[in-house]
Amino acid sequence: METVKILVVEDEVIVARTIASQLIQLGYTVVGTASSGKAAIAKALETQPELILMDIIIKGEIDGIDTASYIREHLDIPIIFLTAYGDDDTVQRAKITQPFGYIVKPFTSKDLRIAIEIGLLKHRLERDLRENRDQLATLLNSISDAVIATNEHGMITFINPAAEKLTGWHQADALGKDISTVFHIVDEVTETTLENPVTKVLREQKVVYLEEFTSLIAKNGQRVPIGDSASPIRIRPNQVDGVVIVFWDLSERRKTELLEQALNKEKELNNLKSLFISTVSHEFRNPLSVIQTAVELIELQGANLTETKKNTYLRRIKGAVQSMKQLMEDVLFMGRTEAGKLECNPIPLTLKEFCQELIAEFTSVTTSGHEIIFTCNNENTEACIDERLLNCILVNLLSNAVKYSPQGKAIRFDLICDQTEGIATFCIQDLGIGIPQSEQAHLFESFYRASNAKTIQGTGLGLVIVKNCVDAHQGTISVSSQEGKGTTFTIVLPLNSESQSL
Ligand code: ATP
Ligand code: MG
Repeated sequence: METVKILVVEDEVIVARTIASQLIQLGYTVVGTASSGKAAIAKALETQPELILMDIIIKGEIDGIDTASYIREHLDIPIIFLTAYGDDDTVQRAKITQPFGYIVKPFTSKDLRIAIEIGLLKHRLERDLRENRDQLATLLNSISDAVIATNEHGMITFINPAAEKLTGWHQADALGKDISTVFHIVDEVTETTLENPVTKVLREQKVVYLEEFTSLIAKNGQRVPIGDSASPIRIRPNQVDGVVIVFWDLSERRKTELLEQALNKEKELNNLKSLFISTVSHEFRNPLSVIQTAVELIELQGANLTETKKNTYLRRIKGAVQSMKQLMEDVLFMGRTEAGKLECNPIPLTLKEFCQELIAEFTSVTTSGHEIIFTCNNENTEACIDERLLNCILVNLLSNAVKYSPQGKAIRFDLICDQTEGIATFCIQDLGIGIPQSEQAHLFESFYRASNAKTIQGTGLGLVIVKNCVDAHQGTISVSSQEGKGTTFTIVLPLNSESQSL
C-alpha cells in the first residue's frame, strides 16, 4: 500500500527533523522539508505532496498563513498548521485559509497522527462534494428540461440554461426574484392565471404536477405550452427548505396533437360521407323497389286489374314517392345547414292554431292510427317564429313518436306559452320503445340511429334537422326517455325570435 506523502514546512531545522522522523515512524513518507514560504511553494509544486504540515510563523517574506492561502488557491493540497501560539488572533488569521487541522506545539505522535488522518479525510470529503456539485451543475446545465430552484420563501436560488431560454429570464436577473415573477402560468383555454406550483408545494409539502393545457408566459409575453412537476427540497427533517420545478416545452407535442385532431376530423368527415352515400342509396332503394313492384303488378294484371287493386298499387307508389321526396328534402336541408345557408325568418303566428292545424294535417296523411292528444291552456299564444322551421321540428318529432311507439298508443303534445318569460315550450311524449340511456347523448349526431331502431326504417337525419332548426331560433332541445316506457322531447323557443342565418 502506498503511504501518504507529506511536506514539512518548519524554519527550525531541529524541529523539522524531529517532526519528519515522527512522521516516518508513523508510517508516512516525508517528501521534503522547507524553511520558508517560497521554498514551501516550490517544494509543493515539485513533489506534489498529499498533505503539508506548516508552521505558522516562518522566516522570509511570506509567513505560513500567506503560504497556505497560496497553496490552497493554486494547488489544492490540504494544510495542517503547527504553531506554538494558540492565541485568538493567530487562530482567526489561520481560519481564513480554511486549514484542515491545527496542532498546538508541543504535540505527541498520537496528536499528529489524528490531525493528519482527520485532515486527509476532510480533504477527500471536500473533493467528493465538489465533484458531485460539479457533476450536478454540468447535468443541470446540459439537460433539455428547464429547472428552477427556490428557497423556502419562493425566492429563486438556481435557474438552468434551459429555464433561462423558456422563461426569457437571465440567471443574473432571476436570482433572488420571487418565483411568480419569472414563472407565470395560465390556463391555455380560459387564460386565467394559475396558482404557482411553488406556492402549492410549500403549502402541501408534497410533489405537485401541472394541470393539462398550461402555458408559461415568458418575459416577452410569449406563451409556451408546458408540462411540469414541482418537488419539495428537504435538507432538514420534517421541513421544506425549498422547491425545485422541472418543466418542459410542449409546443411540438401540441402541434402534433392539433395535426392529429385535424386528421381525425378529416377521417371522421370521410367516414360520414361514405355513411351518407350508403344510407341515402339504401333508403332510396326501398321506395324504388316498391314502385317497381307496383308497376310490374299493374302491367302483369293488365285488363284484369280491379279498381280496388289499382287504388292499392297507386297508393303504394304515392307513398314511396312521398318518402323519396321527404328523404330528398332532408338531404337538401342538411346541405343548406352545412353550407351555413339555413335562414330563420320569423313571422307572427298564433301557436295554438298553428299546432292544431299541423296535427290535423299530420294525422290525415299518417295511417298508423295513433291518437295525438293536444293540450294548451294559455289564452295568449301569439309568437314570432319561422313557420317552416317550426313545422319541420314538430313534424319530425311527431313522426318519431309515431314510428317508435306501437299502434294504438296515444301521443301527448303539450304547448305552454309563457308570455312573461317570453318562451314557448313544446312537449311531445310517446309511450313507445324508449331510448337506452347511454345512447341519448348521440341522438343529435348526423346519421346516428340508436340500437332500439335496428328493425325500424330511418336515416338518422330527423333529429339533426330538428336541432338545427331549434338552434336557428336560439332555443333548446332536451330528451328524457326510459326503455320500454316512452320518450319525451322538449323544445323551448323564444316567443319572439330574431331573423338570422346560421
Ligand atoms: P329519419 O332521418 O328518417 O328521421 P330516424 O328516425 O332514425 O331517421 P332521427 O329522427 O334522427 O332518425 O332519430 C335518431 C334516433 O333516435 C332514431 O334512430 C331512434 O333510435 C331514436 N329516436 C328518436 N326519436 C325516438 C322516439 N320517439 N322513441 C324512441 N327512439 C327515438
Ligand atoms: Mg326520425
